[in-house]
Amino acid sequence: MIPIVKTVADVRKYVKAWRREGKTVGLVPTMGFLHEGHKSLIDRAVKENDCVVVSDFVNPTQFGPNEDFETYPRDMEKDAALCEASGAKLIFNPEPDEMYDNALTTVSVDKITKVLCGRTRPIHFNGVCTVVSKLFNIVMPDRAYFGQKDAQQLLVIRKMVKDLNFDIEIIGCPIIREADGLAKSSRNTYLSSEERKAALCLFRGLNKGREAADTGADVDTVKALIRSEIEKEPMAKVDYVEVVDLDTLEPAADTKNILAAVAVYMGRTRLIDNFIIGD
Ligand code: AMP
Repeated sequence: MIPIVKTVADVRKYVKAWRREGKTVGLVPTMGFLHEGHKSLIDRAVKENDCVVVSDFVNPTQFGPNEDFETYPRDMEKDAALCEASGAKLIFNPEPDEMYDNALTTVSVDKITKVLCGRTRPIHFNGVCTVVSKLFNIVMPDRAYFGQKDAQQLLVIRKMVKDLNFDIEIIGCPIIREADGLAKSSRNTYLSSEERKAALCLFRGLNKGREAADTGADVDTVKALIRSEIEKEPMAKVDYVEVVDLDTLEPAADTKNILAAVAVYMGRTRLIDNFIIGD
């Protein structure tokens, strides 16, 4: 069975042994309750590295006071089975105290964390950057894998890695969807069957926007089309619909190099999705 370790010291023992044998190491950071989206990251990491560590940690510091830290779904047994079947070599599943023992240090990225999800979740990216920096220092991987599902997170991590000179290659992986188009997410489990049906409005809206962009519509039209399609769904409450420059996350001037991103409340569940045009 794949080892599940709880301490930083144990992770380092495994990684040191692999390094002595000259092996390369990949890291897939997750909050667990793994699904096909996570699996696609692990599969890619297993292909590109000799040894893969999956971190499985519901990180308290990236949740706001009224968010779902307490109720976030957890299933370690199922996660272990998926990691093992995918060929990962180690799961790091620390308790919060192992990661934050009276810590006074955080890592924050300015500007690009203040828009999109950062507006509604002001402390979120500080938590993400701090935990990911720690995981990088604990595992010291050659490569780390992140999903385009969380496109802003991926951009923030790339910026952090560049700014702080982490010697780690960041690999972005495409969004994995359910058969009907809903982006896979651990939070989909919160949805009632009615909300699950209604949640398709994100995908429908983004598709409308994408088609319009592909046929030459301008940024404002793309944005308005996405929003109006989502708002046709009475259960949906839009948090944001934005079309921004893919590098700066500032409002886009044209649709050549864009991130079109949405966050929508479906009942109490906040869902995100996006598409990218450009690199
Ligand atoms: P999470 O456990 O939600 O923090 O996600 C861990 C990693 O898996 C992040 O890099 C996510 O972007 C990625 N991920 C989550 N859902 C998907 C998905 N549907 N497709 C691709 N990657 C995903």
